[in-house]
Amino acid sequence: MTVITTDSCRTTCPYCGVGCGVLAKGGDTPSVAGDQTHPANLGRLCVKGANLHETTDSRDRLLAPKVAGRQVSWTDALGATAEAIRRAVAEHGPGSVAFYLSGQLLTEDYYIANKLAKGFIGTPHVDTNSRLCMSSAVAAHKRAFGADAVPGCYEDLELADLLVLVGSNAAWNHPVLYQRMKAAARDGRRVVVIDPRRTATSELADLHLLLRPGTDTVLFNGLLVWLADHHGVDQDYLDRHCDGFDAALAAARVAAPDLASVASQCDLAEADVETFYRWYLETPRTVTGFSQGANQSVAGTDKGNAIINCHLATGRVGRPGASPFSLTGQPNAMGGREVGGLANTLAAHMDYHNPDDRALVADFWGSDRVPDGPGLKAVDMFNAIHRGDIKVLWVMATNPAVSLPDTALVREALQRCPTVIVSDCMADTDTAAFADILLPAAGWGEKDGTVTNSERRISRQRRFLPLAGEARPDWWIMASVARELGYGDAFAYQRPADIFREHAALSAFGNEGQRVFNLGGLTQLDDQAYDALQPIQWPVLSRDDGGRSRLFGDGGFCHPNGRARLIAIDTVLPVTRPDEKQPLVVNTGRIRDQWHTMTRTAKAARLLQHRSEPFIDVHPQDLLRFGVRDQGLAVLDNQGQQFVGRVRSAEGQRPGEVFVPIHWSQRFTGAGLASALTSRVTDPLSGQPESKHGTASLRPF
Ligand code: SF4
Repeated sequence: MTVITTDSCRTTCPYCGVGCGVLAKGGDTPSVAGDQTHPANLGRLCVKGANLHETTDSRDRLLAPKVAGRQVSWTDALGATAEAIRRAVAEHGPGSVAFYLSGQLLTEDYYIANKLAKGFIGTPHVDTNSRLCMSSAVAAHKRAFGADAVPGCYEDLELADLLVLVGSNAAWNHPVLYQRMKAAARDGRRVVVIDPRRTATSELADLHLLLRPGTDTVLFNGLLVWLADHHGVDQDYLDRHCDGFDAALAAARVAAPDLASVASQCDLAEADVETFYRWYLETPRTVTGFSQGANQSVAGTDKGNAIINCHLATGRVGRPGASPFSLTGQPNAMGGREVGGLANTLAAHMDYHNPDDRALVADFWGSDRVPDGPGLKAVDMFNAIHRGDIKVLWVMATNPAVSLPDTALVREALQRCPTVIVSDCMADTDTAAFADILLPAAGWGEKDGTVTNSERRISRQRRFLPLAGEARPDWWIMASVARELGYGDAFAYQRPADIFREHAALSAFGNEGQRVFNLGGLTQLDDQAYDALQPIQWPVLSRDDGGRSRLFGDGGFCHPNGRARLIAIDTVLPVTRPDEKQPLVVNTGRIRDQWHTMTRTAKAARLLQHRSEPFIDVHPQDLLRFGVRDQGLAVLDNQGQQFVGRVRSAEGQRPGEVFVPIHWSQRFTGAGLASALTSRVTDPLSGQPESKHGTASLRPF
């Protein structure tokens, strides 16, 4: 239905979870501009989005299928892919096949991957790089609300009279949303930033709490205690809508009994802690935004719940300007959650642990192969590959050889895996180097589908460029392999709209209100209506339903008794601790102008002007301590795994802690990987790695 045209096409930015609308033009000289009609950005774009047109040419693209390094036809590539899967299943069972997906995939692609793997091949081992991004927030939402649902919307970040940002450098990682937060400045509005380092986002802060890394739960447990002791708890709301307050408060009193204890544990001034608590107490319109700084931790789920506990205790959930708010990293991490892209979930926000859910999904797909229990989460999946338990790994639109922690082990695992299949739009990624089968995927501008942003808003990504070389959409590739495997009847899709209608229908199937994720109102979209679909926030229950900007505002939640749960949170500190050999704490994260492993953003020269090389932010005291100099090169060493970067003297770092960017790989610099400095330690509930707390030694290069 989509017509490729040199006229502007309304589509969506493929980078971060803000999900900005883009007006894109194809033709000989592609161009982009912000879409003023899109509710997420109202015409704004950050520098990454504004340079998207620099990344759409065919330089560095994977333009044809390859098997064992040789260019082959699609027929041969699909046949080889299907044969590898068929053989592994026959010889080792369905659990010997694993899929590693990505928040870069469109919802339609993601849906097909899950249906093929979980529904027909019968393997539960489907996980995604979103595991590294926000899986802790998912687990926290489920514990508190009974569903993985963000209660608020972007407007709440503007309406809040107190905006608390935890582990979020939104100025660099959610730039357009940050612009909205900044533009909302007004008399009486306050911003508190909680982050162990001073960042560009700190400019917005009336109060910055540079807490000791990993002590967020102490700070929020202390807040719960302080609220309880200062008449700050909404007892009526708790009585009517919540369980678990008494146990949560009792645990909080043990973990964070008073201001002095909180200040000491978090390494903060007592007066600053009290100021934060007082502002929170006084301000009904409070939003707490939390992001990777909270999620990427051995206690990531607990951090989310400690934050949500305080919102539940004050009745500040799903109300205008009052909610906890998880800031999602990737463009379609949320869409992946909708279709079951995480190893511990089934499609349409259903769960393995519920036999009714499993039966429902199996019934809808007409399959008797839906696994009984969850699959391996990302880090465990690569451990299993390393052990030899997985015989076929299919990686789509992501680069685990750079992004997963302990990259030496990940690369060994990829080397050992008998068959590695990589679908990607780029030819020369670090992971592609390990591929036995390379499948060229359509790039941004060439594919059609939907994505869901951090505020549950579903937007269309539309095609405005011809497919490069022999590239094909991911859904087409997987549906073709499914047909090769003999599942053709269940994968007879002609276009993304067919898949979206099925995805929407599954969300409504047997759903009498038990599941908040429901797109029942979108099941009847014809192709034209799908093509014209306007951005809309789920749930969408009927054809004339305009979606929901907020959830749970009426106090009804998704646990079977309809109530929310406060969770008792004990203090769990980072597992990887500095010692004599590795005395520095390593914090890893993004920079403003690059995206993930730079396979696309490095194509735009302007995006390299902001930071052109890997760097290490070091506190001035540590320059002297480790004998490194500002602007000199230095080496961070984690048990022999090294990262070389340009030292930047950074007053905003706490002494004893350094920050390094995650983006550069061997491919660009040969200077080592940030992920080599972090360990495979994960949150026991979410499986999210502790990427904010590695350790290393530092010396001049
Ligand atoms: Fe794209 Fe995010 Fe920038 Fe918006 S803020 S233009 S979605 S990278």
